[in-house]
Amino acid sequence: MSRRSKGPEGLDALREKIIGLGERSFRKSYYPKLRQQLMDLGRAEELVRETARRQQAILDSIPDMAWMKDSEGRYIAANDAYGKAAAMNPADIAGKTDLDIWPANLAKKIMADDREVMRTGKRMIIEESLRDRQGNVKWYETIKTAIFSVTGLVSGTTGIARDITRRKQMEETIKYQAHHDLLTGLANKALLMDHLRLELAQMRRLRKRLAVCFLDLDRFKNINDAFGHAEGDLLLKEVAGRLLSCLRDIDTIGRFGGDEFTILLPLVERPDDALKTAEKIMGVLKKPFVIGAHEIDVTASIGISVFPDDGENPEALLKNADAAMYYAKNQGRNNYQFFNSALNMRTLERVLFENRLRRAVEQGELVVHYQPQVNMKTKLIIGAEALARWSHPELGLLAPAMFIPLAEEIGLITRIDQWVMQTACAQLRQWQSAGYPLRFVTVNLSARQFEQPNLAERVSEILLETSLSPSCLGIEITETLAMRDTDLAIRNLSSLGGLGVWFSIDDFGTGYSSLSRLKKLPIHKLKIDKSFVFDLPVDPDRQAIIDAIIAMAHILKLAVVAEGVETEAQMSFLSSKECDEAQGNFCGRPVTAKEFGSLMAAGK
Ligand code: C2E
Ligand code: MG
Ligand code: MG
Repeated sequence: MSRRSKGPEGLDALREKIIGLGERSFRKSYYPKLRQQLMDLGRAEELVRETARRQQAILDSIPDMAWMKDSEGRYIAANDAYGKAAAMNPADIAGKTDLDIWPANLAKKIMADDREVMRTGKRMIIEESLRDRQGNVKWYETIKTAIFSVTGLVSGTTGIARDITRRKQMEETIKYQAHHDLLTGLANKALLMDHLRLELAQMRRLRKRLAVCFLDLDRFKNINDAFGHAEGDLLLKEVAGRLLSCLRDIDTIGRFGGDEFTILLPLVERPDDALKTAEKIMGVLKKPFVIGAHEIDVTASIGISVFPDDGENPEALLKNADAAMYYAKNQGRNNYQFFNSALNMRTLERVLFENRLRRAVEQGELVVHYQPQVNMKTKLIIGAEALARWSHPELGLLAPAMFIPLAEEIGLITRIDQWVMQTACAQLRQWQSAGYPLRFVTVNLSARQFEQPNLAERVSEILLETSLSPSCLGIEITETLAMRDTDLAIRNLSSLGGLGVWFSIDDFGTGYSSLSRLKKLPIHKLKIDKSFVFDLPVDPDRQAIIDAIIAMAHILKLAVVAEGVETEAQMSFLSSKECDEAQGNFCGRPVTAKEFGSLMAAGK
């Protein structure tokens, strides 16, 4: 560092004075004194320069901008980093004020801060954004400190300014990530809830309405399963884009994860105004989405709640929009529904009912009834179908249609079905021990059971526990389930077949089965659905269908059971068509185990 420090001006003046004095009174006696004085002065001067050089070296070793100013705001020294920022040679900065270096506005601000530091003598830390000479916004963290003289007065300031633009950008990114859904760039739940709170406060003040739309894509899981998650993600992005195109600037849209989007529509005049947006959304989704090589059709179900009509606070509005969305799904998807209190009642009832059903299972309120299955030729009872009933303390005996669908939906069906199976197996074993000629009992298994990885083990445990021969247990499955070719379903079907239990296809004729596939499964019987039996033998079309089903089943070596046989005429018609077995009110309604036992005892 060879820059010459100007040093304090006083020293130069003193030197002039001493030399002048020396010349005027150049007498031998003064000479040594004068020389001494000059030498002292030289040393002092050197010391000052040395200090300045050290000071400069320290400043230059700081990677951030660093400087020192005197009490007038004039720069004493500045480092390389400062020079770079000011686009000046650092040596030229010394002696200048901020007004000489920076644009007036900035200079005034810097000087005001300096004055504040000098006035208070306190350290000041400022975080501020400034525009650099190229016009880029930069963030700085500046620390300014007062310099005190020996007398204790503030004689200047010193400062360091660090470029924290990168840190700020990272903070911004983190803030963005905390408030946005990274896949679609839409607001996330936290941000949307914030907006909703703010908007509601404003709507309350303005006495205006706000609509909350809850949108869920229909069967998105299938799309994900069929095309993979990467394509599913691309689709969500595209959907987000189309949804945005339906909204006004003042609307907010967020993704709550998965395929759920929430839209806030402030300042709606009447509740029906939200309808227009919903219509628009249904409209833009109509065009197929082209994702990679695929064209994908997407529909959505939308639920709408309106402030203040359907709720006063964010939680109530979201909950009610969600309930309305579920209602839309139940209405067959691809539509929108407004929340209304009737809907609310239904949800409430559902929740109560759901809790009640859980309790019923735990407290043993379910019972099994048995319906005879009769051999067509001998007219003897050869087996029974186990059918669940809920013996409700207030409502009486409830049919499965009242609770099985809900049990399936909430996952309670697994417990129910296993319990029914266990009870029916134990019951049949008991009847067999009593000497009744019952060959089998059949149980209904819901499709959901076939997604259970340990189904076969569970069934085999039940058979062991009840010491029932596997061939005495028949499992009734629907056609749709038999056609399901997920790995787990196939594995479960064949391991159950391996155990020696057999299957009947229940409600046959109401689904779409492929005969070739049916043949590959361990199926023993087809149960013709009661809707085909109902108008027999009057309707000739029905007759033809029954004829065909029986003939086809026999070719496939399957026995045929007719369900819902209610009259003697039906019975004899089916018998003439070589139907193997019958089940229906004509042969016996479903009854309690005790009643069934008496029935058997009477026939024995
Ligand atoms: P499903 O397996 O087809 O059972 C036969 C249904 O037809 C029974 O209704 C039975 O009462 C009724 N039925 C029998 N004979 C006649 C008749 O002559 N005329 C008429 N109109 N109907 C007759 P239920 O007991 O109400 O059961 C309805 C459905 O509930 C069953 O249909 C079955 O799919 C399901 N289900 C019953 N119990 C269980 C169970 O434990 N687990 C599962 N997953 N589903 C069950
Ligand atoms: Mg059945
Ligand atoms: Mg059936």
